[in-house]
Amino acid sequence: MRFDRLKRIPRRFVFRLSLGYALIFTASTAALFVLAYFLVAQEFQRKEQEVILSRLREYAAVYQAGGFNALKERAARDNNPADERSFYVSLVSPLKVVRPVLVPRDWGTFRLEPGVFDLWREFEINRVPQDAQKDFALAWMPMPDEAILQVGRSTNSRKILWAPFRKTILPAAAAMALLGLSAGAFFAHRAMRPVRQIVATARAIVHTGRLDARVPSRKADNELNELVRLFNTMLDKNQALIVAMRESLDNVAHDLRTPLTRLRGAAEMALQDHANPDAAREALADCVEESERVLSMLKTLMDIAEAEAGVMKLERRPADLCQLIREVVDMYEYVAEEKQVRVESRLPQRCDAWGDPNRLRQVFGNLLDNALKYTPAGGSVTIAAGLRNGMAFVQFRDTGIGIAPEEQERIWGRLYRGDKSRSQRGLGLGLSLVRAVVEAHRGKVTVNSRPGQGAEFCVWLSRNGDDPGGRAGEGHPAAPNPPGG
Ligand code: ADP
Repeated sequence: MRFDRLKRIPRRFVFRLSLGYALIFTASTAALFVLAYFLVAQEFQRKEQEVILSRLREYAAVYQAGGFNALKERAARDNNPADERSFYVSLVSPLKVVRPVLVPRDWGTFRLEPGVFDLWREFEINRVPQDAQKDFALAWMPMPDEAILQVGRSTNSRKILWAPFRKTILPAAAAMALLGLSAGAFFAHRAMRPVRQIVATARAIVHTGRLDARVPSRKADNELNELVRLFNTMLDKNQALIVAMRESLDNVAHDLRTPLTRLRGAAEMALQDHANPDAAREALADCVEESERVLSMLKTLMDIAEAEAGVMKLERRPADLCQLIREVVDMYEYVAEEKQVRVESRLPQRCDAWGDPNRLRQVFGNLLDNALKYTPAGGSVTIAAGLRNGMAFVQFRDTGIGIAPEEQERIWGRLYRGDKSRSQRGLGLGLSLVRAVVEAHRGKVTVNSRPGQGAEFCVWLSRNGDDPGGRAGEGHPAAPNPPGG
């Protein structure tokens, strides 16, 4: 088990991230070291050249003013031959004879032969007699009497200065790599904490089915905390959706119980009454009617449940509400004629809102159906549409039986039917569906009525799909005054 864990380490993201950190850290530190080394070495060399050249110019002036002896005297005064940093000074006569002026002890018997030098030269020579390697830097200058003045100095001290640096660079690089690796591991481990917590939470939900598990969130404003917040919001939404779906399922099961019991009763009666075929036929006809009711109820209940749970599929686009109303009025023309109720439309040329035309047609159909149902013969239904306060509205006003104030909240509930409405066909689901669909469009539907004085239903919809102001029921404009009155 432990070995397995060890084997997995190289595959772990944190390990790879740390290794990457360490590599980059070590490489950049080494590059910095090398750069610093070369810059400092260059600066050393430049300084050295400056010192030797200035000494060369100085001694050239002394030689020109006082000749060989003056130069020898001055060089002896300036330098201690025992000192490693002492200058080497020699004069090469036009006849190529080397006349040493001052030779530091560690130059031994070495003499620089005259040759074709550049003005500046750095080279290695063997120290005589010890035979150890030494570096020297040398500059030369022709004198007016055609002799050549040479001034040089050992550069060994520079090497000595760099020696500890060279020795420590490897262990230092190893230490850097180790530091990089451990710092990388520390930071990567810390940075990955939210990801580990997300994994643990997801695992808990998958394994235990606990929907309320959440990732502890932190205040810091960075991408991983943003991911945690979004992940938690997603879990909240999923949980709400699952709870709403469960509730809807419970409600549907509960609401279907009564009509199914009735259906079963009718079927049982048909089975029992063998002697009377007419009664049996009637019972079977009831069965068919009841099952149709159940089917239609089931379909509407499922629609309401979907819309309320926020999973109703809406094909929202700019829809001309006036066109939809004209279609619905055409559809109910025959019903209105039958009931002898006049339907009047007061519509502008067009009135666009953002919505699913099929669902909105269903909403307007239900509202017109109710208005016709609850308006006695000789009455009228007026439909108006327009824009107000940046929203589109459609208003259905009838001269029917009206709704008592205490009923006006209850009419939206599932299966609620007003006392006076029982004589009319209906399932008590029409307004529940209207409200659920309108709210799924982030719109609002309002009622305004007095018993015996007709009812006025108004649907408010967004014109461009923006949320008009939180949940429906808040922040919507008041119902418009009835058009024309
Ligand atoms: P249904 O019409 O099938 O009974 P609804 O959900 O459409 O169910 O309506 C619920 C109740 O609201 C109705 O039973 C009725 O009492 C009342 N109602 C709806 N529309 C009107 C209206 N235009 N005039 C009077 N009452 C209405």
